[in-house]
Amino acid sequence: MTDSVVTRFAPSPTGFLHIGGARTALFNWLYAKKHGGKMLLRIEDTDRERSTEAAIVAILDGLKWLELGWEGEVIYQFSRAARHREVAEQLLADGKAYRCYATAEELAAMREKARAEGRTRLYDGMWRDRDPATAPNDVKPTIRLRAPQTGETVIEDQVQGRVVWQNENLDDLVLLRGDGNPTYMLAVVVDDHDMGVTHVIRGDDHLINAARQKQIYDAMGWTLPSMSHIPLIHGPDGSKLSKRHGALGVDAYRAMGYLPAALRNYLVRLGWSHGDQEIFSTEEMIAAFDLASVGRAAARFDFAKLENLNGHYIRHADDQSLVKMFEDVLDHLPGRGELKAKLNDTTRAQLVKAMPALKERAKTLIELIDGAYFIFADRPLELDPKAQALLTPENRKLIGQLHSALEKVETWSGATTEAALRTFAEENSLKLGAVAQPLRAALTGRTTSPGIFEVLDVLGRQESLARLKDQSTT
Ligand code: GLU
Repeated sequence: MTDSVVTRFAPSPTGFLHIGGARTALFNWLYAKKHGGKMLLRIEDTDRERSTEAAIVAILDGLKWLELGWEGEVIYQFSRAARHREVAEQLLADGKAYRCYATAEELAAMREKARAEGRTRLYDGMWRDRDPATAPNDVKPTIRLRAPQTGETVIEDQVQGRVVWQNENLDDLVLLRGDGNPTYMLAVVVDDHDMGVTHVIRGDDHLINAARQKQIYDAMGWTLPSMSHIPLIHGPDGSKLSKRHGALGVDAYRAMGYLPAALRNYLVRLGWSHGDQEIFSTEEMIAAFDLASVGRAAARFDFAKLENLNGHYIRHADDQSLVKMFEDVLDHLPGRGELKAKLNDTTRAQLVKAMPALKERAKTLIELIDGAYFIFADRPLELDPKAQALLTPENRKLIGQLHSALEKVETWSGATTEAALRTFAEENSLKLGAVAQPLRAALTGRTTSPGIFEVLDVLGRQESLARLKDQSTT
């Protein structure tokens, strides 16, 4: 029997689910799906000072919104502290770890000496072989791993390749602090082992930790999971990703009107490629994803590309679900209460009807909302400056005539209003455009909108005629 794949996403709840974290989750999710395995979720809340409940909520919400579901219960690392201690004690009992009574001053002196001598190994092993009977009784000892002092620690990383550390450069790491709290390094290893994780996929800022973690696996006689350290996401200029360049929480992308499917598609292509293919359905992504095609160079975040991709997803989304997403984004935007209050069966139906035209023009749901403003505008319409300029006294007269012409249309639709307007234009020797622009200004308060016949159709007979009346003079 082959072991099934178990991956995990292990965020620290010290902030929102940022875009890099979301990509790590996606890669873990895809890898598990591809191999018929499962992705687990572990919240690494051992840093009690910096972990917050709000961050946990944001992470869970973000993952749900991205539809990156995890299997089973969420594991909270802090709740497993007793088990972490147990492993440290076991290593101690087996002689693979030892108590270290070095004082803060002694440790500081060691560090300084190491730095002065240009060594990365900071702890000099002073308590490694010392008799505990000589221990001072005013120091609470830490427990340190008796790490190998010679030879190499090697990780065969699926993305980075073979990575080798000289053990003489790695000091005896702390497993348990003086206050009895496990270190992050110990907790990660014990949890991954106990959770049956077969594949660790995470940011390459953790590569150095992998060496220390491997030493703990070795000491426990446990098998190291397959390791993949994926390059971080950088800004478009190659520098560290800044807020301006997209280092935002997933909730910010949601509020900016990105579709989860578009964001997933964008993220999968950040650092991973599959020929020239840019657009992937979820099924295609799962089928094509592999770790071997994850590049080693840092990926560059490109807002314009994300926007284009989002536009593609909006154009291809079905109208009903776009209305749902429209509502969802309203829920996440401050100051949109008024618009939300206007959502009812009638306006929803109008939105569905207008959607084919609206979605052609929108790159984000915010642009979609903006394009749909004419459905929700209150009479008499507030005209923007361009529409105002267009509605000259002369054109207001024209609006009056158009009102009379359209009033005769009994069965109201895009086609019947179009026919009436064409006839009107012909009879008055006017170009259709000369009629359509003032009409648009009167019906929408702006000079850009979906096609004018669509606008008439969506607004319906009564509302269209009333808006025309508002702006007309005889
Ligand atoms: N909690 C770590 C982080 O949020 C990830 C640790 C891991 O994946 O091993 O960066």
